[in-house]
Amino acid sequence: MSEVRDVVIIGSGPAGYTAGLYTARAMLNPLMFAGYMSGGQLMLTSDIENFPGYPQGIGGPEMMMQLREQAERFGLEVQDRNVESVDLSQRPFKVVVESEEYFANALIISTGAESIWLNAPGEAEQKGRGISTCATCDGAFFRDEEVLVIGGGDSACEEATFLTRFASKVTLIHRRDVFRASTIMYERAANNEKIEIKTFRQIKHWLSDENGLTGAVLEDPRDGSTEEIAATGAFIAIGHKPITGFLDAQIETDENGYIIHKRHTMTSVDGVFAAGDVVDTRYKQAITAAGMGCQAAMDAEKWLEENHH
Ligand code: NAP
Repeated sequence: MSEVRDVVIIGSGPAGYTAGLYTARAMLNPLMFAGYMSGGQLMLTSDIENFPGYPQGIGGPEMMMQLREQAERFGLEVQDRNVESVDLSQRPFKVVVESEEYFANALIISTGAESIWLNAPGEAEQKGRGISTCATCDGAFFRDEEVLVIGGGDSACEEATFLTRFASKVTLIHRRDVFRASTIMYERAANNEKIEIKTFRQIKHWLSDENGLTGAVLEDPRDGSTEEIAATGAFIAIGHKPITGFLDAQIETDENGYIIHKRHTMTSVDGVFAAGDVVDTRYKQAITAAGMGCQAAMDAEKWLEENHH
């Protein structure tokens, strides 16, 4: 058996890096599997304006690099590889990474969440071509073109506003007339003259030709009436789902797959802790994820002290 680590952290957003910082400073010699695309969702964010301590805001990737650097300075070991599976029935816990086995007395799971797709007819063919879930990644491909954004939350308003840097027109399509987005995000979009907001509309199906996306047929959910809208790009921003597939149902989750905390940040398996968007059904902010990462690290430290020394 290879070396048994005190703590293995799976996932590398603000929750994971903060857990890494705290467990490294607690001399627990943590190992993090950060994933092939380390840094999590903030790597796909342009500006973070609401993380305290950055009065001018900071770019998402830049902040993640700084969080990583800070944790590494205290000894966090980071591997940019994906965890395939875990075995929580044995002690120490087994973590499988590209067929290699690693062992840990305690685990901190901070794998976050990923975008949900609409899965409307015609979507699969246009994924990664005209239809995307990441304006920061793909927005620049639509310079001087007309694009759609679907959703009524902070993500949709943020993406619509961001896309006005490139697109000639952005139409924000929402299925209701009430927005979940915070007032500041909604108003920023509503007051932008390049953005048109269409409420009570959903995508019935996508339209395309041999060159790619050409638009969509929109449906009014109140009476089923339809209309066509032209667009060469579309950005789906209808929320996220937690990344828990690799756990293979060994930890209790709610009906949407979010990990449930049992005692403080400990999950249904003793010695396994969870933090960030993989748990959070309510706040989902970088600062709350970082705070929870700190809590998970402190809980893991205390649990190890009581159970392994
Ligand atoms: P969200 O708040 O859950 O909003 C999802 C939106 O998509 C809702 O308006 C919902 O409509 C709509 N929707 C869901 N399923 C749909 C479907 N099948 N067809 C059409 N519309 C659908 O998700 P989010 O905007 O990704 O935000 C998630 C969390 O991240 C929130 O807590 C948010 O505050 C946070 N966030 C924060 C920032 C920031 O800078 N502070 C930026 C981005 C995100 P209904 O309203 O009708 O359900």
